[in-house]
Amino acid sequence: MLNLVDIKRRKSKTAKIGTLLIGSEHPISVQSMTSCDVKDIKSTMEQISKLEAAGCDLIRIAFPDIQSCQLIPIIKSKTKTPIMADVHFNYLIALEAMRYNIDGIRLNPGNIKKEKQIIQVVEEAQKKKVMIRFGINAGSLNKNIIEKYKEPNYLALVEETEQLLEFLKNIEYQNIVISIKSSNVLDTIKANKIIAQKCDYPLHIGITEAGFDQPGIVKTAAGISILLYEGIGDTIRVSLTGDPVNEVLVAHDILRTLNIRKIGLNLITCPTCGRCQVDIYKIAKKIETSLHDIKTPITVAIMGCIVNGPGEAKFADAGIAFSKKEAMLYRKGELIGRYNTKEAIVMLQKEIKLISGQ
Ligand code: SF4
Repeated sequence: MLNLVDIKRRKSKTAKIGTLLIGSEHPISVQSMTSCDVKDIKSTMEQISKLEAAGCDLIRIAFPDIQSCQLIPIIKSKTKTPIMADVHFNYLIALEAMRYNIDGIRLNPGNIKKEKQIIQVVEEAQKKKVMIRFGINAGSLNKNIIEKYKEPNYLALVEETEQLLEFLKNIEYQNIVISIKSSNVLDTIKANKIIAQKCDYPLHIGITEAGFDQPGIVKTAAGISILLYEGIGDTIRVSLTGDPVNEVLVAHDILRTLNIRKIGLNLITCPTCGRCQVDIYKIAKKIETSLHDIKTPITVAIMGCIVNGPGEAKFADAGIAFSKKEAMLYRKGELIGRYNTKEAIVMLQKEIKLISGQ
């Protein structure tokens, strides 16, 4: 018989960045990254507040040079969300970022390779209680590993991560998160599954450089969902080309779909067919955009006719089923009113706001 089990998370330690705890004892967090030049501080702060409003728990910012770290106090004074500095090539940027009290550092062992330098960063992080994420990325693996495997496949990702784990065995400081990413979904899944069994560090998961719009979302959802269903992943980042706010929305959609963490509207809309007399796409879009700031988990059904409408609406917090002449509004399966299309949309918006308490 098919054995259906709920998601059982892999046990991992707890890492701490600012006020955010990452690990199997804590909710799976959502993170994203600003996409503008940090030196454009106005755009950076605008993006940060949009990411926060969308439900981002941790924000990463690229600090391309030592001077840019001077902006950290300005950024931190205007946000409560933990900030992680993305550091590549030069370990001195990590040290400088910590001098300015950054909450976390992302290091790439593929381009900061000298053990002495990494140890210096780890020692400073220990002093300042700064979390470090070691991010292994298929696009920047060590040359010797690429030469051995000829391509950045999952075996190459695993070997590079194993080298990191060997190094971490000798490190006292354990406020560490690991990520292993590739733009290849299957390589990412395989590598994470192997490494998940070899250590108990919290894992940050995602499909790197997944692309944009629909293909990027599908790739990401496939990779992240499979790992999460296997219990792997303590924090997620969706990597999409474009507005980073979409990354956060997609991340929450994935968590909501898997029943892991629910915030905001869960929209059930029918695909429409010849029976439908209204523009369900337009109506659903209107509901979604006008109520995007609602954080309370609410299931809303928007159905094109009475075939499945009342049935779906019964199990939703709020639902609307259109018929030829009118629309029926439901509250937890109970019919609470009949309206024309225009009125029905307004009444549904009111009903959702009422349930949300926002
Ligand atoms: S709910 Fe009605 S309109 Fe929508 S797809 Fe089903 S039968 Fe068609």
